[in-house]
Amino acid sequence: MKLKSKIHLFSTLLMLLILIITNVGIYLIYSQNTYETELQQLRAESEILVHALSQMTESTNPATILRAYSPANGAVRIVNTLGEIEVEVNTTDRVDAVKVQEVTAETQEVNTINGSKMLTLSIPIIDSSGAISQLQVIQVLTDVERNLNELMLILISITLVGTIPILISSIVLGKLVTQPIQKLILTMKYIQNSGSYEQIKTSDHRKDELAQLEHTFNDTMILLERNYKKQEQFVSDASHELKTPLTVIESYASLVNRRGISDPKIIQEATQAILQESVRMRDMIEQMLQLARYDEELVINRQATDLLEVIEQTVRSMKQAYHREFNLIVDPNFETLIYKTDEQKLKQLLFIFLDNARKYSEEEVDLHITETPNFIKIAITDKGIGIPSEAIPHVFDRFYRVDEARNRKTGGTGLGLSLAKEIAKGLNINLNIISVLNVGTTITLELEKK
Ligand code: ADP
Repeated sequence: MKLKSKIHLFSTLLMLLILIITNVGIYLIYSQNTYETELQQLRAESEILVHALSQMTESTNPATILRAYSPANGAVRIVNTLGEIEVEVNTTDRVDAVKVQEVTAETQEVNTINGSKMLTLSIPIIDSSGAISQLQVIQVLTDVERNLNELMLILISITLVGTIPILISSIVLGKLVTQPIQKLILTMKYIQNSGSYEQIKTSDHRKDELAQLEHTFNDTMILLERNYKKQEQFVSDASHELKTPLTVIESYASLVNRRGISDPKIIQEATQAILQESVRMRDMIEQMLQLARYDEELVINRQATDLLEVIEQTVRSMKQAYHREFNLIVDPNFETLIYKTDEQKLKQLLFIFLDNARKYSEEEVDLHITETPNFIKIAITDKGIGIPSEAIPHVFDRFYRVDEARNRKTGGTGLGLSLAKEIAKGLNINLNIISVLNVGTTITLELEKK
């Protein structure tokens, strides 16, 4: 069964059920009250009659008194101890079928006799001779019946007429709920067939959950499209970047093949170039793999770390590897000794920046460690070639290099800073670059104090 049909069916049935229960309740309460009122009236009249009978003398004809108090549509009887009717005054012969009952206490009952509802009240009385007889007052409930029938008719009409708005509202409700879902299904099918990242048309004035569903769907589509384009860009950049070293290797290999075996100069030049390009290619592939891994999930393992020790170790390794001057300058007010971070990731981050500072400068590199109330700052400053101001916003993009010629010499891949950006994000570190062309570059790492 379709969702629309289910909504129709269940909402209509439920509303109808509520309507029927309400109407049946109204009918039952009303009829109960009406019978109660009739009974009270009859009892009040009977009490007056009983009083009048008790005042009666030997000479009084009981029929005269009964006539005076007989109900408009019914009868009054005096029944003796043998169960025989002694006197009866009636205003309708429909009461003839009402049986005489032997009672010792006051009783009342409603019977349906020959299709007519009758209320019978039996009261024990002491007659003029001192014997206990019974006064039976019978009221035919024609008016009550008519009123109740009318009420039932009205309530049935209300139920039938009420079904129309219930049906209309259930159709509207079904449409309201299923239309956005239908739209969603159609868009998804279109996406499946076309392979595009289609969005749903949404209206701004709707703020319900279904509108939220549409907005969330559109946001997801935007995100998926953005990620897909990023991936596509990455694959195309990666293949383009790998093509260059491969072309260099191929051309040198064919040069050696053609002329080189006997020429040691060509062999030396070729092996050097092939080695350099192979190393670059290996670095690039390693960094690409790391970026791909970090894209999925960068696992950060924070532990209490001696921050200065970590920085000193990194600087020592850099000095050893490149035989260059790295000056570590710690602010005299620096206090934080233990800091919670991922030591390996922080080292990797420092290596990337120190390596760039070394690659793009000839002179010594300075590391300033300072502290503010909220941050620990590590500033890495080189006096190198610097970055043109228009290039600064792009240096963290994948495969971005300021200019091909100067980077070829340094063997860069254009992936170091994008890797650094991912690691810094994982470690909650803010990065700032200040650079002046041909003067130098300062990269500041801001480590948030917790
Ligand atoms: P690469 O492997 O080419 O160094 P990066 O992503 O690390 O790639 O850096 C991107 C580009 O930013 C570099 O190619 C370089 O042109 C520029 N750059 C980065 N750091 C510095 C620096 N300290 N001085 C001058 N230029 C820099």
